[in-house]
Amino acid sequence: VALDPAPVIDDEATLVAPSAGEAVVVHLSAPDPAVEVAAAEAPLGATRVTAAARPTGGAVVALGQLLDPPGPRPSRRGPTGPIGSLRTPSTTLVAPLADPAAPPEGDPAPTATGPATAEPPSSAPRLTGPTPAPPTDGPALSGPPGQILEIVDVGPSVRIFKVGRPAGLTFTGGQYLKAGIDAVRTASFSLASAPYETHLELCVELIPGGRLTPQLFALRPGSSLTLGNQVKGSFTLDTAGHTHLMVATVTGIAPLRSMLRQALHDGTNDRFVILHGASYADELPYHGELVALAATDRRVAYVPTVSRPAEARNAGWTGQTGRVDPLASNVAVTLDRSDLRAYACGNPGMVSTVTSDLRALGIPVSSETFD
Ligand SMILES: Cc1cc2nc3c(=O)[nH]c(=O)nc-3n(C[C@H](O)[C@H](O)[C@H](O)COP(=O)(O)OP(=O)(O)OC[C@H]3O[C@@H](n4cnc5c(N)ncnc54)[C@H](O)[C@@H]3O)c2cc1C
Repeated sequence: VALDPAPVIDDEATLVAPSAGEAVVVHLSAPDPAVEVAAAEAPLGATRVTAAARPTGGAVVALGQLLDPPGPRPSRRGPTGPIGSLRTPSTTLVAPLADPAAPPEGDPAPTATGPATAEPPSSAPRLTGPTPAPPTDGPALSGPPGQILEIVDVGPSVRIFKVGRPAGLTFTGGQYLKAGIDAVRTASFSLASAPYETHLELCVELIPGGRLTPQLFALRPGSSLTLGNQVKGSFTLDTAGHTHLMVATVTGIAPLRSMLRQALHDGTNDRFVILHGASYADELPYHGELVALAATDRRVAYVPTVSRPAEARNAGWTGQTGRVDPLASNVAVTLDRSDLRAYACGNPGMVSTVTSDLRALGIPVSSETFD
């Protein structure tokens, strides 16, 4: 399966074994010299083999999955082909690596080494076997309730505020609270940190001319935020599903990150496909963290996309381009819909389009709009 430059989805391909009893070798190739691609060998009779590729500086490319030849194992993909034929629902995800010069976002990258082992968000069954390790966290952060412990500048219009967590404040991944400045106002902000973490994390987009966010952006570590003591919201992980398609624009990633981190921390075997859109690459909070996670955790796939690739502000972007809305439908149709749950969060237009498009495919969608 040859990958075009920056493909997202590579449609189904069929690989035919030379003859019964022979192994099939799958080679993935990419024209991008920054991508090193692994080959995988599937002995006849193997039920599953994954070929993955390693980031070598410019991109992470995964995957190609060689699925089982006909045999007694029940298949969820319908009738099998003739003896020796292998069907390959191969989905290819391409994501640029974080700029090494960029300021750190969220937690440091996981420490796992070796080639990427991410798998396609395909019709593969729920993962089984040993539970992969939870995400590697940095040192626990804590401080007085509401105090800003750290600020991460994602770009000119997006910041992450790490703040002290009030004792006794409990929540479920995906929920939000009121936060702000006493003398100004408070507004709703999703918690981007996971419930298991010792601090809270808010990911804020600057609204030029807005009443609150310009003042929030003037704060420095050591200042304090007013935090509401009630956490609200039903935008949480749907545990009836085992494949989660998460679609976000800009700071809409916040509640999805919280759900994801808690689930990984709890040792889930579910899989997560995260699609993250913005006009500009510097509006993609947690981009570096998610790229690193997807490269090392087979439960996670991440596709960031920018909708204004030609603009100078996006110079150097080598990843997916275009809006996240159509990407959501294109990816959804490659997934096993029997246990798929979708989530859309952020820009009202995106949330409305993605919700109706995915529901039309029969996929249950939860949504939250930031407006
Ligand atoms: C459940 C929920 C969770 C939220 N979580 C987050 C979050 O995690 N991070 C985050 O940054 N925001 C989040 N928001 C949005 C946030 O509550 C405020 O609406 C936003 O920060 C307003 O900032 P402001 O007071 O500076 O602007 P305002 O003074 O309220 O708005 C000024 C003008 O900008 C418009 N406007 C307001 N918000 C936006 C926007 N997002 N995009 C474009 N125009 C806008 C308004 O209609 C108004 O005309 C969430 C909203 C909800 C309802």
